Amino acid sequence: MNESAAIDFAHTEHQVMIRQMIRDFAAREIRPYMMEWDETQTFPRDLFRKMGELGLMGMLVPQEYGGAGFGYLEYVTALEAISQVDGSIGLSMAAHNSLCTNHILTFGNEKQRQKYLPGLASGQLIGAWGLTEPNTGSDAANMNTVAVRDGDHYVLNGTKNFITHGITGDVAVATGRFCLF
Ligand SMILES: Cc1cc2nc3c(=O)[nH]c(=O)nc-3n(C[C@H](O)[C@H](O)[C@H](O)COP(=O)(O)OP(=O)(O)OC[C@H]3O[C@@H](n4cnc5c(N)ncnc54)[C@H](O)[C@@H]3O)c2cc1C
Repeated sequence: MNESAAIDFAHTEHQVMIRQMIRDFAAREIRPYMMEWDETQTFPRDLFRKMGELGLMGMLVPQEYGGAGFGYLEYVTALEAISQVDGSIGLSMAAHNSLCTNHILTFGNEKQRQKYLPGLASGQLIGAWGLTEPNTGSDAANMNTVAVRDGDHYVLNGTKNFITHGITGDVAVATGRFCLF
């Protein structure tokens, strides 16, 4: 009979350090204000700049583009620590890092990376991702937004909804279907 190897789920020393640093930050910068933000429907923009200074707004972005250059374990540890205090700030951080910033890092060309990543990673710019439309969510292939070529650029036409940072964001990655005619 084969002996199966035990998986070690313990946090690494690095993760423990990040988690503690973020817990301290959240206790100081989020917990005392979060009910006021909630009740007055305030988007705490300055908080995201402070999170940028800690590296939380460009967690997966390599240092050459101004990011923290962390991996997914550190990213998830940080998200968990923020979300334990305020789930809304955690969702904002996730949408900014994963949905906007990481798509530019993964699929953008070098010019787009140089243009957008330093601002996003520092928290000076807030990122959004526009996939969902009034008639399509999970079924993304059914979207109606189209991108039509017009000389050296594309004209994007369509309607998006439920977009995190749709109002408060500065940069958006929006999905559309290429129209070839
Ligand atoms: C807090 C929040 C933040 C959001 N932020 C963003 C954002 O930043 N950008 C963005 O683009 N969108 C965002 N959304 C929208 C979100 O991505 C969509 O709501 C999601 O994709 C689901 O789409 P839908 O609401 O149209 O539901 P539907 O796709 O209609 O799904 C409804 C139900 O049907 C089920 N279902 C769907 N398809 C199938 C299938 N083929 N088989 C079986 N079951 C199925 C689903 O599991 C679900 O239970 C956000 C939503 C929330 C709640």
